[in-house]
Order: sequence, then structure tokens, then C-alpha cells
Amino acid sequence: MADLQGQYQRIKGDIDEAIQQVLLSSKYINGPQVNEFEGHLGEYLQGTEIVSCANGTDALQIALMALELSPGEEVIVPSFTYVSCAEVISLLNLVPIFVDVDPLSFTIDPGSVEKAISPRTKAIITVHLFGQCAAMEPLLQIAQKHDLYLIEDSAQALGADYSFSDGTLRKAGTIGHIGCTSFFPSKILGCFGDGGALITRHEDIAEKARMIANHGQKTKYIHERIGLNSRLDTIQAAVLNIKLKYIKEYIGSRRSAANWYYSSLDNLGWLALPQQSQHSSHVFNQFTITLAETVDRVQFQAYLSSKGIPSMIYYPLALHKQKAFSSLESANVHLPVTENLCKRVLSLPMHTELELDALEYITDAIRAF
Ligand SMILES: *Cc1c(COP(=O)(O)O)cnc(C)c1O
Repeated sequence: MADLQGQYQRIKGDIDEAIQQVLLSSKYINGPQVNEFEGHLGEYLQGTEIVSCANGTDALQIALMALELSPGEEVIVPSFTYVSCAEVISLLNLVPIFVDVDPLSFTIDPGSVEKAISPRTKAIITVHLFGQCAAMEPLLQIAQKHDLYLIEDSAQALGADYSFSDGTLRKAGTIGHIGCTSFFPSKILGCFGDGGALITRHEDIAEKARMIANHGQKTKYIHERIGLNSRLDTIQAAVLNIKLKYIKEYIGSRRSAANWYYSSLDNLGWLALPQQSQHSSHVFNQFTITLAETVDRVQFQAYLSSKGIPSMIYYPLALHKQKAFSSLESANVHLPVTENLCKRVLSLPMHTELELDALEYITDAIRAF
């Protein structure tokens, strides 16, 4: 599914040297590379403030804390996503309200969001699932109309561009009040362990997030509020400083692999290829196909596996169906698109090191099935 070793080997000299520098300085916590990386990522993300932290899940939690929501207030979240988004809502004694996604883009359905709004709703977390942006223009309109915060989970879509109807281009994570991203190794920009960041255009939010991520202190040992210990390690920042230089190349390699899948699998009636939104570019963190109802997914996956081809199901069980959320009233919903996708999606190998012979082998095998 990923080839982290192959990716490392291409830039081994620079990475080894960058890590060596950290070892020689011994500034493992808050070394100068952390600040440097925040600056570079902020430049790449159109002049935004970046607050690095320990992982993408923490970024989401810090975002909710920085917005000062009160226990019992509701946050709308898609059910077809990774658990982090809803987990942090519940951890803070806020209430996740699960909504459905669009069957073609897999991202949150603005119509479903609008129906879920109540007087207790304070925020929407939109997830740019699998590598392309959710429908940000309608979501921004809904957020403005109902005075809600809009948080973007761009963990799978760092580098994707959203185009507004007036032609404005904005990078994923820079559109709402706060963007949250992850540097988990297999993401678009991955480090060699855990890492994450908040992205915002609002200086006051950035300042608050920075304080929360650092035990609620601005001045050492003076704690203004309850915070957490969530830092990006210097070694990870050093790795990311090198890898950020290659982000365009990484996205390009993923797009080339996707183009191969599109052209080699396009006339098979029993599977649907991922639809590309007119409003967003796609960075293909995943390449996710949807199988027809007539296809037995277990059998298909076993067949791929017998040919040595890995595949993954993102996600086999919707969040509103998870035991962890079963006590919530809001989990008692029927979300037909989400529930159907959980039964029928399958993600194919997608990473920066897929060579033509590997791609050919994969698509030949799929066609033979
Ligand atoms: C990876 C991911 C996260 C969490 O990131 P971590 O760094 O693993 O905590 C959150 N949301 C989505 C959509 C993700 O893909």
C-alpha cells in the first residue's frame, strides 16, 4: 500500500544529514528545525500560520479547544471517515452529530449538514477524504449563515487545491477557520513517526492553539489554561523540512499512478473509479474504487492477495455504527450512502514509488478477475 523504504532511499543522503544535525545539536525538543518547518509549510499553504503538534488527532483536539466550545454543544462530522474526528469531539464532552457523504466524492454532503443543524450546533468538521476537498463553497455558506466554525481535516489532502466559483484557488486546510493535518508516515507529507499541525489565517486562533499545545502556557511555568503536551519532535521537523521540498513531486507520482488506474480500468462495469470533483484537484492519498453490488468484496480481496497485491478497506465500519459511539443519541441514524460505501469500497495500492511494471501487474490482475 505504501513504499516508505523506496521513498527514503531516494533522499537518503539529505535525510541522514538532517537527522545527524539534530543528534549533534541534541535539541530534541523545540529545536530550530521546528520553527523553520512551520515557516516553510505556512509559505506553501498560502501564507497561513502553522502550529505544529504531535499528531493529526491532537491537531483536531487542539482546534476544538481553541474555539472554546462548551460541553454539550454539537459538532457535525461525516460518519464515513477515520475515527479521530469524532473521537476528539467526544473526549471534550462535545456531541458528534454524524451526517452522510456524497456517493461520488465520498466527502461530507452539504445537504445532510444543513438538515443536522440545531440550536446547539457550533461547528462543522469537514474531511477532505482520500485526497480531494469537500464542497467548501456550499459549506462556507452554510457555516456563515448559521454562524458556525468550519474545521477542515486535511490529513489526506495536503496540497490539494479548491477552486471557488469566482476562480479563487485555495489549498486544502486554508479555507475554514482552522485546518488540521497529519504527518503520519503514509500521508502525502509523512515524517518518520507521528506528527501533525494546525493551519489558520487567524492569528488569535494560532496563538491560542500554540498555548494549548504547550500546557496552556505562553511563559514557562505560568499556566493560563488547561492544555496538553503536544509537540512535533525536532527530528521529525528535520525530516519534514527535507520532504516538503518534494511535495509537488510526491503528488505528481501519485497522480501518474492514478492516471494509469483511470486509463486501464475505465471500461469495467463491475467497479466504479473515484470521481474527480470539478472544484478540487486530487492528491490521491488513496485510490478508492467502489465495487458493484454483484461483486463479492471478500472474494475479490482474497484474489488480489493471492496475486501478492495488497488492498485496504477505508472504512469497513461507519463511525455511527461503532461501539465506542453507541451510547450517543446521534448514533441512531440511518446514513444510507455511508453504510453502502462501507460495504463496497476498496483502496488499491497508491504511493510515490509505483513503477509502471507494478501498475501493469495490478491492473492486469484486476481485469483478469
Ligand atoms: C490520518 C488521519 C487522521 C489522524 O492523524 P494521526 O496523525 O494519525 O493522529 C485524522 N483524520 C484523517 C482523515 C486521517 O486520515
